[in-house]
Amino acid sequence: MEDYQARQDLLEAVQGMVASGLVTGTSGNVSLRLDDQRVLITPTGYPYDKLGPDDLPVIDMEGDQVEGELPPSSERRTHLAVFQARPEAQVVMHTHSVYVSVCAVAGLEIPPIIDELVIRVGGGVPLAEYVFPGTWELGEAAIAALGERRAVLLRNHGLLVIGRDAREALEIAQLVERLAQVFVHARLLGNVTELTPDVVRRELDMFRGQA
Ligand SMILES: [Zn+2]
Repeated sequence: MEDYQARQDLLEAVQGMVASGLVTGTSGNVSLRLDDQRVLITPTGYPYDKLGPDDLPVIDMEGDQVEGELPPSSERRTHLAVFQARPEAQVVMHTHSVYVSVCAVAGLEIPPIIDELVIRVGGGVPLAEYVFPGTWELGEAAIAALGERRAVLLRNHGLLVIGRDAREALEIAQLVERLAQVFVHARLLGNVTELTPDVVRRELDMFRGQA
């Protein structure tokens, strides 16, 4: 079947997202770039535990549905804006995990506090300005805040992650949620120690050197 592997990869990322508690109910969404015309995306309001590979709708770059019975995610325009701006993005994952949301509500970026955050995300996790969900403009706000990084907090909303494949998107979403927990707790203890600029510079070289 055409796109079979892509459908399996996206479904595995969805199952990993649910299993690691990054979403509850039908919230959150994941998309995968099939080619320069088509994107596979999770459906809106459909239970993840009932989702099979053939259920995933396909949309074009304008957000119109071109394949599948189930209606695509209401946040598809945000995903498409990111795909258009970031050619290396193969997968976009959007979650509402708890500590990420705490930071997004408190209006706090996650600074570069742990080595693997800089190496895998490309620095701390920036905070995009508030924009209404489901819009192209939310994608544009995310892109503006992202720079070259692979994760961005959406103010009063959640997290958006870019992956060069489905596994990377899931791993980064899990990493950022864990680092958000570390950051919030360190802040409650009253002391957040950031990595030094020299360490961040060296780790950014590693981030940019990844194949
Ligand atoms: Zn959302």
